[in-house]
Amino acid sequence: MAESITETKLTPVYPLTEGIRQKTLRKIIRQALATALNNPAELPDWLPEPLLAKFEYPKLADALSSVHAPDEGIDVAALHEGKLPALKRLAFEELLAHYLSLQQTKQINATWSAPQFRTVNPLAQHFLTVLPFQLTQAQKRVIAEIESDCTTTKPMMRLVQGDVGSGKTVVAAYAALLALSNGYQVAVMAPTELLAEQHFKNFNNWLAEVQTQILFLTGQLKGQPRQQVLQALADGSAGIVIGTHALFQDNVIFRNLGLIIIDEQHRFGVHQRMALRSKGQKQNFRPHQLVMTATPIPRTLAMLQYADLDLSIIDELPPGRKPVVTSVLPSERRQEVIDRIAGWVGQRKQAYWVCTLIEESPQLQCEAAEQTAENLRLALPDIRIGLIHGRLKNSEKDQVMQAFKQHKLDLLVATTVIEVGVDVANASLMIIENPERLGLSQLHQLRGRVGRGQADSYACYCTNRPCPTRPNTAWASYATAMTVLKSLKRICNSGGQGR
Ligand code: ADP
Ligand code: MG
Repeated sequence: MAESITETKLTPVYPLTEGIRQKTLRKIIRQALATALNNPAELPDWLPEPLLAKFEYPKLADALSSVHAPDEGIDVAALHEGKLPALKRLAFEELLAHYLSLQQTKQINATWSAPQFRTVNPLAQHFLTVLPFQLTQAQKRVIAEIESDCTTTKPMMRLVQGDVGSGKTVVAAYAALLALSNGYQVAVMAPTELLAEQHFKNFNNWLAEVQTQILFLTGQLKGQPRQQVLQALADGSAGIVIGTHALFQDNVIFRNLGLIIIDEQHRFGVHQRMALRSKGQKQNFRPHQLVMTATPIPRTLAMLQYADLDLSIIDELPPGRKPVVTSVLPSERRQEVIDRIAGWVGQRKQAYWVCTLIEESPQLQCEAAEQTAENLRLALPDIRIGLIHGRLKNSEKDQVMQAFKQHKLDLLVATTVIEVGVDVANASLMIIENPERLGLSQLHQLRGRVGRGQADSYACYCTNRPCPTRPNTAWASYATAMTVLKSLKRICNSGGQGR
């Protein structure tokens, strides 16, 4: 039986991981498949017949066998492009399950109560007058959407999507002010210490007039100072806490948490989001939740991926922003890039030099950045070069960032720790070595560090890897997801998707 499969079927090639060989994996999967196909009761097909018929999808059993053991005559191109009905069906089922479970989360959320905020108050009005800029129309619209959520007794679950630099932080600060002025505490969570630190400074500036303590909590805070933070949150003397994952550890207890803000939400999992929420949960009461992301995601996809959230979009950049001019240079021309930095700094402008590395090893990343900084210091002796990476202590990172902000440094050599949030308007040139090692959204975020002021901004990618001209696997599965989504949307529209 096993042999006859390989004779009339194509041989699958599975992605491997260390310690498992192709032959072994094939054998295991073939056995699992045979077991599943021989025990239909164990393999229920959750998609109803009429639906399968409507989209011409195969049954689950058929889909699994044609994916793992395709017939010889199969359309190989369609297989590679993710267009095979079997693949589409499997993707459909996965997305539908994801969507339904999030819809369920949303429905359950609606059965909870949340604090009902009064939104017209002098503090909020005052806040807008002390800002050094006018809010964009898009920011105003999103703030209004947040206000309308918070004035009901249902917990807000809102995703704010806005490109890097679109000004999400100030919207978050406004929401925080609403909660504070209604007597509730606010927790703001960011994925990196550097970003949390930056929010901490911004919130302190913007909310200086509010009579409350704003605290900072990360994993690095230990001993007595940590105890003090925990105490102030438990007894309610602190109104806002800003921090990293450390916020949802067990011993963090709030007196009356009314709003949770999660920045760069794509860096956290759904479960982390929910863990923080459970902190503010009392009897049938839940805090409002605002999550923010800069990851560009088509509306339909966002509705699917974040089906438990309502979506607000900041689709406008503050006035005067120009697109970042982006170029690719082969690594051999690195010297030209170095020369260009000298001229750039001569015009009193600053720049980033970002080092990437394939391995997920922070140790190696830091060493590579150290080496690069040293080489650049040799090549550019007249330029003030700083270095920042994940292994520096908080206080050291802070010193470097402050020095760069105050223009005591001209060039900042960095690992991807500066990926999110860092905001220095005078730095409008970014060199990224080996950008192909980064994901598209990571690259987009990184590049978003420049283009924050009025000046023309540039990103220069140094690489020897040709740009892909054919869609790779990731794009193929994206394409599958999109076609599947279209079917899903039709179903949702006919089934009613609620608010
Ligand atoms: P992001 O959406 O990427 O988080 P930020 O909130 O960090 O963006 O904002 C980027 C920069 O733009 C900050 O320096 C911020 O103070 C500034 N900014 C925000 N809103 C406006 C506005 N309406 N006009 C001018 N500058 C703004
Ligand atoms: Mg931000």
